[in-house]
Amino acid sequence: MLVRIKSTVMKTTTPTPRKNTMDYQDSALFDLFVTELKDVYWAEKYIVKNLPKMAKAATSEDLKELLNAHLDETQNQVERLEEIFELVDKRAVGKRCEGMDGLIEESRTIIDKTEGGTLTRDVGLIASAQKIEHYEIATYGTLKTIAAVLELDDQIIDLLNETLEEEKAADQKLTQLAESHINEDAREEEN
Ligand code: FE
Ligand code: ZN
Ligand code: FE
Repeated sequence: MLVRIKSTVMKTTTPTPRKNTMDYQDSALFDLFVTELKDVYWAEKYIVKNLPKMAKAATSEDLKELLNAHLDETQNQVERLEEIFELVDKRAVGKRCEGMDGLIEESRTIIDKTEGGTLTRDVGLIASAQKIEHYEIATYGTLKTIAAVLELDDQIIDLLNETLEEEKAADQKLTQLAESHINEDAREEEN
């Protein structure tokens, strides 16, 4: 059996001098960054395609408005990703995001399983939209962190951060809307 003995030697506090021999764009982590970029690019475009259906299915005007406003933001987010592809010198191509595919499928199920014109449907749509936002928040948070570690252009980090903040704001607006009246109004609806 292999026994690992904890080293008692004090670790030196002097930082290891940075090796400039490696361009981070040659690293496997950079490849992962590009793979994730393609994933989220596909996801955002898929949201652009499907968000109008969610807005159309919504009952309350304020939810429709919120979803349509986020559709406009999402279109900008697609463009930001295209800028990032350009900055890293890669072609903007999407790769199917299984996660977003599933989350959008869930939104269809909500629409199928709830009655049109009810606020119960809106509660379901808000839940669905928030799952989408949380998924995006995780993705952009990761991309931003990887970009920083790889010391990519500040512009890239700024673009990722802009979108990240938009997704967080969208998530908060959905919470506020649900709590303002939709949840309680839905409670009165019979099955
Ligand atoms: Fe987005
Ligand atoms: Zn994905
Ligand atoms: Fe979003």
